[in-house]
Amino acid sequence: DPVALTDPHSAGDAELAFEGALRPKTLDEFVGQRRVRGQLQLLLRAAELQDRTPDHILLAGPPGLGKTTLAMIVAYEGGRPLRMSSGPAIQHAGDLAAILSSLVSGEVLFIDEIHRMARSAEEMLYLAMEDFRIDIMVGKGAGATSVPLELAPFTLVGATTRAGLLPNPLRDRFGFTAHLEFYDEAELELVLARAARLLGLDIDGEAVAEIAGRCRGTPRIANRLLRRVRDYALVHGARPDVTSVKAALELYDVDPLGLDRLDRAVMTTMLERFGGGPVGLSTLAVSVGEEAETIEAVVEPFLVRIGLITRTPRGRVATPAAWRHFGLAGPGAEPS
Ligand code: ATP
Repeated sequence: DPVALTDPHSAGDAELAFEGALRPKTLDEFVGQRRVRGQLQLLLRAAELQDRTPDHILLAGPPGLGKTTLAMIVAYEGGRPLRMSSGPAIQHAGDLAAILSSLVSGEVLFIDEIHRMARSAEEMLYLAMEDFRIDIMVGKGAGATSVPLELAPFTLVGATTRAGLLPNPLRDRFGFTAHLEFYDEAELELVLARAARLLGLDIDGEAVAEIAGRCRGTPRIANRLLRRVRDYALVHGARPDVTSVKAALELYDVDPLGLDRLDRAVMTTMLERFGGGPVGLSTLAVSVGEEAETIEAVVEPFLVRIGLITRTPRGRVATPAAWRHFGLAGPGAEPS
């Protein structure tokens, strides 16, 4: 499916099994994000020396950059059990109370998409994070009383694509916020080489570099493209060399910059309907039929990073490079 191939959010069942097999287990195996790795290392080591649970950690950044992987590493490195949940699964304070009250001492609780948790649960979480305690309401109406419940000490690892959406009291209770960045091509080559080794795939450096340039700065997409290249080589009885890579990725409609369907829709809408901008985020979102949140958290950061759009106070503006990439004449261009 050409759409799913470069969509950094989505992952089917086969995809998840594949991701699991390739997931680094330790900080040393984790490629790139040097700053974040150093910061986490210090935080984990300090906790170990003081024989306490590590501080709560917030991981912020676009999808597919390794937030879930880092949460697993935090648990694995400390030899701690891990509980996984997500914001959308916590729709009532009771959902969170059930999770928190069943944690064992030292457990790592991972909440993905923490910005999507119910408001009432958020408030319960403040106290839990700070004092390892929650207040449970018993009874209804005038007779209702709150009963305090002690929790086992735990480490919360929250992940969000939108750190800006978290209320301040929640953000302030994390001991450390890691901002994950898109990976550069050299790092992606390391991710790909590692994955190829684990898959027993004999692929040369040139082919790896070709894939690295097309995976949207995102390890999840790198691994996925590698899998399609492996399929292509298998079916065609070919070596997974740069020729196979180009043919496979062309077949799946991955362009040389690695732009996906939504990236391209946003760009062509900006260029063709809005003359390159400036155009506001919500107008753009409505025009391509996508949520503004997705455009802002997933699409825009990458397009800004590769220099196709800039953000100005009046809205988003396409750069000359964008006009060139889409083979269109920009404003003020000489008629040919
Ligand atoms: P989401 O927020 O959408 O769940 P994520 O940021 O949690 O995404 P992960 O699920 O951790 O992303 O990573 C996706 C895949 O990319 C993993 O299976 C892992 O194999 C690979 N990966 C991520 N980061 C790295 C890395 N630094 N080194 C090697 N592989 C990585």
